[in-house]
Amino acid sequence: MTPEPHLQAGAAVKAADRAHVFHSWSAQELIDPLAVAGAEGSYFWDYEGKRYLDLASGLVYTNIGYQHPKVVAAIQEQAGRMTTFAPAFAVEARSEAARLIAERTPGDLDKIFFTNGGADAVEHAVRMARLHTGRPKVLSTYRSYHGGTQQAVNLTGDPRRWASDSGTAGVVHFWGPFLYRSRFYAETEEQECARALEHLETTIAFEGPASVAAIVLETVPGTAGIMMPPAGYLAGVREICDKYGIVFVLDEVMAGFGRTGTWFAADLYDVVPDLMTFAKGVNSGYVPLGGVAISAKIAETFAERPYPGGLTYSGHPLACAAAVATINVMAEEGIVEHAARLGAEVVEPALRELAERHPSVGEVRGTGMFWALELVKNRQTREPLVPYNATGQAATPMSAFAASAKSHGVWPFVNMNRTHVVPPCNISEAELKEGLAVLDTALSVADEYTE
Ligand code: PMP
Repeated sequence: MTPEPHLQAGAAVKAADRAHVFHSWSAQELIDPLAVAGAEGSYFWDYEGKRYLDLASGLVYTNIGYQHPKVVAAIQEQAGRMTTFAPAFAVEARSEAARLIAERTPGDLDKIFFTNGGADAVEHAVRMARLHTGRPKVLSTYRSYHGGTQQAVNLTGDPRRWASDSGTAGVVHFWGPFLYRSRFYAETEEQECARALEHLETTIAFEGPASVAAIVLETVPGTAGIMMPPAGYLAGVREICDKYGIVFVLDEVMAGFGRTGTWFAADLYDVVPDLMTFAKGVNSGYVPLGGVAISAKIAETFAERPYPGGLTYSGHPLACAAAVATINVMAEEGIVEHAARLGAEVVEPALRELAERHPSVGEVRGTGMFWALELVKNRQTREPLVPYNATGQAATPMSAFAASAKSHGVWPFVNMNRTHVVPPCNISEAELKEGLAVLDTALSVADEYTE
C-alpha cells in the first residue's frame, strides 16, 4: 500500500534534509529532526497531523506566535512594493522600524544600527565600544550566550565557546550573580549582589581599568538559565562602568521585545546601558533582523568619523516591514501587558505549585513569559539531573522528560538540566494551562530519577 500523499511529502522533506542540510550545533549523523508541515499561533504540526504547543517559541523568538495575519500581510505588502534596497538609502520600512524601536528603548538609545540577527549585533556593539574608548578588552560572564560568530562566541561563557576560542580575542570572563549556585558562598540575594559587584570591580582592577572597553551582559541571562539579577546588580554595574569610563552593553537579543512582560528587560531594573543589542522578538523572527540601539554619547563618536562596519542586508526592507507590523501588533493587542499578567497570575503560581509536588524541581525563576525550572537529582545537594542528550542516542533523565512532554503534544525548551517555559507572549490562558498540565505529567517522569 502506498502511503498517503501528505505522509509521502513529509518523508521527502525529511529525506532531503538528511541528505543535504547541515544542522547547527549537531553531530550530523546522530540527529533526527522533526519534519514540520505548518505552524499557526502557539502551535505547529508534523505531516501526520500531530500538533505541538510550542513552549519554546522556536528558539525563544516567536514572541507573537506563528503566522500572525497582520505581520504576514505587511511582509506581503512590502514584497509587492519593494522587496529589498541597499542600506545607504533612506527607505520607509527601515526608517519607521528604527523610529518605533528608538521610541521604546530606554533612555537616549535613539539610533539604530540594523544587523541580520543577534550575534552580529553583539559583534558591532563590541566594535563600537572599542572604537569609542580606544581600549581593547571586553568583559562578559561565564554563564552567558552571545551568539555563534567569532567575537560573539568568544564572549559567550557556555562551553560552546571552547571549540572556537582563539584565546586572543581580548575577552575576559567573570562570574555574574546566581544565588542558587553561588560562586560567592552567598546566602542571600543582597550578599550575592554585593559580592558579585565586588568581584567585577576586582576583575577590572587586575585587568587594568584603562584597558577595558566594555562590559557585555545579558540583562537577564537566557540560554544559561533565566537568572534574574538581584535588585541593585545592574545599577551597580552601571556605576562601575561610569567610574572607569567603560561602555555598558546590555544584550537583549532574547530578553527584549515583551519577553519579560516589559518592552525590554532593562525596564524591570530601571537601567540604561550605552549600547543595547536586540533581534528575535523585534519581528517575532518572521524575517531575520537584529540590531544595536546606540546612545547619544556613542553615536557622537561617529558623527564626523565614519563607522567602519556594515552589512549588505542591514535594515532589509522585508525584515523591517515585519518589525513595524510586529511592534504595532504588540502595542495594539497589549501583548506586553498580557505577558506580564499571565506570567504573574498563571505561570508563576502554577510553577511554584509544581515545585511543591515534584522533587525534581530545584528552583523556579523568571518573569513574564520567561521562566526556568532547574531540575535536580536531589534538592539538598542541588546536583543537576543528567543533561538532555541532543543526539537522542542515549536516554537521559532530561531526554525522558522531553520525550514525555512531546508525546503529550507539548514542545519543551530543554537545555542542560533545565526546562524553560518561554511560550509566545500572546499565548492564550487556556493554551498556557494546557502546557502547564503536560509539564506536570512530564515532571513525574523526571521525578523517577531523583534520589
Ligand atoms: N545574544 C543572546 C542573548 C541570545 O540569546 C542569542 C541567541 N540565542 C544571541 C545573542 C545570538 O543571536 P543569533 O542566533 O540571532 O545570532
